[in-house]
Amino acid sequence: MRCLVTGGAGFIGSHAVQRLLRDGHEVLAIDDLSRGHAEAIDLLRQDAGGRLSFERVSIQDHDGLVNAAGAFAPQAVMHFAALAYVGESVQQPGRYYAVNVAGMLNLMHACADVEKFVFSSSCATYGQPPAELIPVPETCPQAPMSPYGRTKLIGEWMLRDCARAMELGGRPVGVAMLRYFNVAGADRSGLLGEDHEPETHLIPLAIDAALGRRDSLTIFGTDYPTTDGTCVRDYVHVEDLVDAHVAALDALKPGRVLAYNVGSGRGYSVREVIDTVGQVVGSVVPTVEGARREGDPPSLFADPSKIRRELGWKARAGDLREIVADAASWRTSHPGGYAQC
Ligand code: UDP
Repeated sequence: MRCLVTGGAGFIGSHAVQRLLRDGHEVLAIDDLSRGHAEAIDLLRQDAGGRLSFERVSIQDHDGLVNAAGAFAPQAVMHFAALAYVGESVQQPGRYYAVNVAGMLNLMHACADVEKFVFSSSCATYGQPPAELIPVPETCPQAPMSPYGRTKLIGEWMLRDCARAMELGGRPVGVAMLRYFNVAGADRSGLLGEDHEPETHLIPLAIDAALGRRDSLTIFGTDYPTTDGTCVRDYVHVEDLVDAHVAALDALKPGRVLAYNVGSGRGYSVREVIDTVGQVVGSVVPTVEGARREGDPPSLFADPSKIRRELGWKARAGDLREIVADAASWRTSHPGGYAQC
């Protein structure tokens, strides 16, 4: 299958490209390299046997997308290119709407002829569900607490509306919306990893603090109504997340609209993550207690039973230690991250 992967040089996108190539597909990765890494594409090309092409194009560049998609004629799209920081989205909402909403609209226009479209949505679309809806099922009302979460919810609406219009027009398309929980870890072969600039995610920051590469890690809020006062999240291994994309791609048929949570189903507090990182790295994570980060819900973890029941997907790495160990292994062996382009 010819598969277009947006954000193919980013953390999740590059792992998806790796998996699609392993499965024998032909891939066009696009990325503007604003947060992705040319080196990840170079590494992936080495074993791709000519099946990976790359275009440096932004999803905000409508004509560039139309040209790239027109030449490749993708049968499927996996759409990862997006801005994805809750805190940043509170400060710069316009940028988030421009990239995540207007950019996605460009992509949908450029790829109007695809058979299958898989969209990276987010658990942030749920906001803070009521206590009786945690673990969160897909039927939980979506009430995002941040501009980031709202852009992802709008993306879901755009896809549903377009899928319906395509069906009415006699050209049904299959669409899947995967609501990720907290994605971490790294490819188990050691080729790819997580390298964000700026890095804002808990696990890589905690690893860097434990390795002495940062003075300390700030805990954002210690007065939440959780067991130890810190936020609870559901961490999912990036390779498991990619498995869920492949399962969704296989399950999509013309006219099918799928929405699934992709999480392990277990919640870990920030303090539990910090302890696990300390154990895996073998040294204590120096911490500072700070204020809450705006837009953060206190507790969010998945009820992943729907995707298990319907697609047979389950997180293989159910244990946080395994996720942290893979992340730490890549981070230790790549002290400067990927080479800068
Ligand atoms: N967090 C923290 N300190 C940091 C980064 C994150 O305490 O330096 C907390 C954050 O408030 C959230 C959890 O760790 O409760 C996971 O945050 P992350 O940014 O990794 O992912 P998000 O939940 O925003 O997708």
